[in-house]
Amino acid sequence: MDGPRRRTRTGDPDTQQSAAAARSAEPFAAVDPAAFPDRETRRAIDGGAASARFRELLDAGGPVMADGAMGTMLFQNGLQFGDPPEVWNLTQPEIIRRIQRGYLDAGSQIIMTNTFGGNRLRLALHGLSARVDELNRTAAILARAEVRAAGDHALVAGDIGPSGEIVAPLGTLDYDIAVDVFREQAASLVAGGVDLIWIETMSDLNEIKAAIEGVRLAAPGIALITTMTFDTRGHTMMGVTPEQAVEALVAWGADAVGGNCGNGPDELLPVIARMRAADPDAVLVAKSNAGMPELVDMRAVYKADSDTMADFAIRFRDAGATIVGACCGSTPDHLRAMSAALRPARGG
Ligand SMILES: [Zn+2]
Repeated sequence: MDGPRRRTRTGDPDTQQSAAAARSAEPFAAVDPAAFPDRETRRAIDGGAASARFRELLDAGGPVMADGAMGTMLFQNGLQFGDPPEVWNLTQPEIIRRIQRGYLDAGSQIIMTNTFGGNRLRLALHGLSARVDELNRTAAILARAEVRAAGDHALVAGDIGPSGEIVAPLGTLDYDIAVDVFREQAASLVAGGVDLIWIETMSDLNEIKAAIEGVRLAAPGIALITTMTFDTRGHTMMGVTPEQAVEALVAWGADAVGGNCGNGPDELLPVIARMRAADPDAVLVAKSNAGMPELVDMRAVYKADSDTMADFAIRFRDAGATIVGACCGSTPDHLRAMSAALRPARGG
């Protein structure tokens, strides 16, 4: 399609290499240690208490099972397309808890709060921007209650998704405002008692940087997982490569780094392999959709079955992922099969 342009770009390997180097150095050329404390600094802040449970989980030897889709399960339970799912933390808490219980029973060791769109910019689209604290705090309390009820074997991850706007300079959202939007959401999740924060489905390094900075303002020592969505020929929609992502996110102090959502496990697998090759030490995360989304009646439908996802769980582990879960289209059935494949000793 863009043959001539591609030929120009790939025609001169030196130019291409130096351009790639410049691009990859740019996002974290000046990491401010006050905004992005390294692991040792973070542990010194609070004696490591804020990330102790996450470190314990990793030290148990892995692989660690994350959870599956929340949105898919909410739609199955009657959420209407376009409605803000976070409101169900208040109006349908028993459904949220039942979904989380499904993943806990399937073997998930990290479950996420129902707060993907729980920042004030996205909630403003529904006239709910003043209820960030209530919705996020309640979500954290619900998840914690369900983990306790299930025997207290899992960790609660406070879920932070994209702001819904594009951060400058690519877009119009001021970086400092983005930081504050994410700080506000993270503070409420932490106040509600989450064990860690999971920033997910990001496409732009500048936005995920703002999110990390916001999280660190709210909770300097908390464990932090960050995943981006590589849905455009191995890159994110904004052109971020797996190598750039792992390098930047580790430099900004993420405890685990990887990919979520996207076009199914066969596209995420090489992303994980490239991250492993770029950084032999990073804790890697694979949370793929249950297959390539197909449009049926104006809805995205995902068709990978449990056996396929279980097979990919093994392949993700072998490619270097320590934390494995699933994203859109997945259900507790997928997670149960993945868990049984990865952790046969634990049984079903
Ligand atoms: Zn997804």
